[in-house]
Amino acid sequence: MSIAEIDLHSALKKYFGFSGFKGLQEEVIKNVIEGNNTFVIMPTGGGKSLCYQLPALIKDGTAIVVSPLIALMKNQVDAIRAVSENEGVAHVLNSSLNKTEVRRVKDDIVNGITKLLYVAPESLTKEEYVDFLRSVQVSFMAVDEAHCISEWGHDFRPEYRNLRHILKRIGDNIPIVGLTATATPKVQEDILKSLGMTDAVTFKASFNRPNLYYEVRPKTKNVDADIIRFVKQNEGKSGIVYCLSRKRVEELAQVLQVNGVKAVPYHAGLDAKTRVKHQDMFLMEDADVVVATIAFGMGIDKPDVRFVIHHDIPKSIESYYQETGRAGRDGGEGHCLAFYAYKDIEKLEKFMSGKPVAEQEIGHALLQEVVAFAETSISRRKFILHYFGEEFDTETGEGGDMDDNVRNPKKQVESKNEVKI
Ligand code: ADP
Ligand code: MG
Repeated sequence: MSIAEIDLHSALKKYFGFSGFKGLQEEVIKNVIEGNNTFVIMPTGGGKSLCYQLPALIKDGTAIVVSPLIALMKNQVDAIRAVSENEGVAHVLNSSLNKTEVRRVKDDIVNGITKLLYVAPESLTKEEYVDFLRSVQVSFMAVDEAHCISEWGHDFRPEYRNLRHILKRIGDNIPIVGLTATATPKVQEDILKSLGMTDAVTFKASFNRPNLYYEVRPKTKNVDADIIRFVKQNEGKSGIVYCLSRKRVEELAQVLQVNGVKAVPYHAGLDAKTRVKHQDMFLMEDADVVVATIAFGMGIDKPDVRFVIHHDIPKSIESYYQETGRAGRDGGEGHCLAFYAYKDIEKLEKFMSGKPVAEQEIGHALLQEVVAFAETSISRRKFILHYFGEEFDTETGEGGDMDDNVRNPKKQVESKNEVKI
């Protein structure tokens, strides 16, 4: 089957009900169908899943999708099943299945019904599964959240380290598709090497979020009052306030409530029921503000979050980008306000002191970038995009004036400019 013969647009419409591709999707999909190793770097929400789902549905055989989170795999499988006549079209293979269920999955694969098989990396350490997958027709292997393979990423998972060997055992010439939202050159290099696909065709979308306004303010002892004032000025709008500790989350949520703000706390120390309740309150707009640790956000898709406040500066630029990225998903206003004090950096350094030396070194290097970002007088957007390996011109680029440094240049920058003129 040549690509020319397949009408990708009608397949997109038929399976997903979408009327057009987003960004680089179509090019990526053609490349995957052609059977090349492919590397996809797109920000969260960019539409990476479709880049392997559509080719999997079109190609002969079963695509194996490695993904780190069982909840996310289940979501995807449910979504695919909903648009297909046959629920065997997608399966998850994991340790929670009983013998009968595993039998069913295997039968569906052997019978050519299953186009997408989701597996957690730890399931692939099972000899029985690897032997089985060796014996069937695999169209390609997709590694989602591929940054989990790199110690330089924000979510390193040791189980990802062995993937290359396991994938090779399943089949030597099976194309690999790696996908990630982490754009730092170091992580990218790690992924390509670790997956043994330095020959991959790379597709990288821009990480610019032109509708987000970036601002960093000094963090003083009045930080709570500063936050209250900001939130009050934005009354009725949805926002997230990130804090480092659970204790701070509880305190700040209370302070906001006392000041008449509809705020709820969210952190991993709350029981599951309360977490779900608070999350729903935020989604349903019974609460305007959620004060949270970084436990909040994964998979939360509220399009009209109007501000993200960092009460504490994050431990890397990637975390900052991910967390601020939850603002303005709908393309509307998104104010990203971070409070910064150098002593918070020292606190973060101290947290790492018990960790292995290599990890500390990486953590330290990532923190230094955060310091540079917080203290810079150049465009924050330019800084972030440069960190992600992207050139940005504040004069011509979209959103070029959307940060505090560009709007209100600091003194020394002005004087430098004057010397030039
Ligand atoms: P990522 O994995 O890059 O974070 P997802 O694959 O989860 O992004 O997709 C984000 C959202 O975009 C999903 O709700 C998905 O349904 C939607 N989406 C993806 N592709 C398209 C498209 N071509 N048209 C419209 N919506 C799309
Ligand atoms: Mg994804």
